[in-house]
Amino acid sequence: MIFKNFGFILIIFGIGKSSNALEINRMPRKHIKVTRQFDILDSIRSRTLFSSMSSSSFSSKNDDNSLSPIGRLEELKQQEADLARQLAEIRMEKLSALRSKPLTIGVVGFGRFGQFIAKTLGQHGKIVVTSRSDYTDIANDMGAEYVPLSEPEAFLNKNLDVIILATSIVSFEDTVKSLTPHLRDYVSKTNKGPLMVDVLSVKEHARDILLEHLPEECDILCTHPMFGPDSGKNGWKNLNFVFEKTRVDKVVFDPSSCLDFQNTNDESFNEAYSYIEAMDRIERFLSIWEEEGCRMVPLSCKSHDEYAANSQFITHLMGRILGAQGLQKTPIDTKGFESVLKLIDSTTADSFDLFYGLYKFNKKNSLSIIHQLQNAMEDVVENLQILEKKDFEEHNIQLDLTNGEKQATSEKEQSTSQTR
Ligand code: NAP
Repeated sequence: MIFKNFGFILIIFGIGKSSNALEINRMPRKHIKVTRQFDILDSIRSRTLFSSMSSSSFSSKNDDNSLSPIGRLEELKQQEADLARQLAEIRMEKLSALRSKPLTIGVVGFGRFGQFIAKTLGQHGKIVVTSRSDYTDIANDMGAEYVPLSEPEAFLNKNLDVIILATSIVSFEDTVKSLTPHLRDYVSKTNKGPLMVDVLSVKEHARDILLEHLPEECDILCTHPMFGPDSGKNGWKNLNFVFEKTRVDKVVFDPSSCLDFQNTNDESFNEAYSYIEAMDRIERFLSIWEEEGCRMVPLSCKSHDEYAANSQFITHLMGRILGAQGLQKTPIDTKGFESVLKLIDSTTADSFDLFYGLYKFNKKNSLSIIHQLQNAMEDVVENLQILEKKDFEEHNIQLDLTNGEKQATSEKEQSTSQTR
């Protein structure tokens, strides 16, 4: 049914086989060296996101309903209701398609974040986890299976559709490198590769490592759930989930044609069966996050890292700096101070490895944030000192004036008493 909807979407958007796509289909897949823009579903997601972000300005431009005839408004409301009904039907179909073929998902790295996502993903599919430490009990408690990291063949032989790499940023490259030979063996034996997904908080580094090491039979999806065990403890509704479909069916997407809320016209859409199958698996995986209520954000790894330095890194940096002050709760805390303590708690709950990874593997952006912050700190302190100096000078002038006045008064009094 998903294929049917897929075709439906293609028809709606008037996308057929372009000459480029036909050319790709005729070529042996192994030799394809082309890059490709994001697919049409991401384009739709991006447009929806963009229109929701600019909906306030949009509505203000179109608020002049007084000019519309009432009949037209009725007609639009009817269309709106029809679309809502169609959407609900499609959603139900999508759900049943998902449930009819649940994914088997492997998680490499069953630490704080690995456990957090496995708990929810386990409601949508079978979970097999592997990690350095022995997590048999925790895995069993959540209905997952644990395989030691020292037994990669046993892990891969669980017939995994998807493998999520959830190790620390700093150990990511070594983990991928040590898994790669086993993945190659698995691919050569079975002729298929699992979809490899990373969840690292830095994205360009993850993308480079995965493209460099993984066998080309493995599709690659780079993701960053912009939340964690604290911010997502009450569910994932409306929390941002960033993703880039990096490699699908041996074709690498072109990061320079990232969506970034711009419209993309994907002319080179490929309808090869293996491609559709690969996209179907990716969409199944993404649909889980979508079903949990995440706000899906198709974004290139490069743009993610630029945005994240200005949001995520600065948050962690401030949390760590404030945390180093040894601040404590007091009986007279203001709301502002409570927020400061919350920031410290949420950032220091994450491992230092994570913070270090954010710095080291997004160095250009994170260093620029550190410098900006240092400059801002100097500016603020300097402004305080300038103000203080001005205050001091004004106070002295005032003092001089007052002393002058006092002096003049006493001289006047003296001369008056002498005259008497
Ligand atoms: P972390 O300290 O970044 O990573 C801990 C995980 O890495 C554990 O599973 C640990 O395995 C594994 N690990 C550490 N060193 C290793 C090594 N040398 N070899 C193999 N495995 C190693 O903490 P985290 O919060 O769980 O984050 C995991 C990943 O999720 C990171 O890439 C992070 O960027 C990403 N992420 C985290 C959050 C969050 O809110 N925490 C949000 C989004 C994404 P053992 O436990 O078996 O030692």
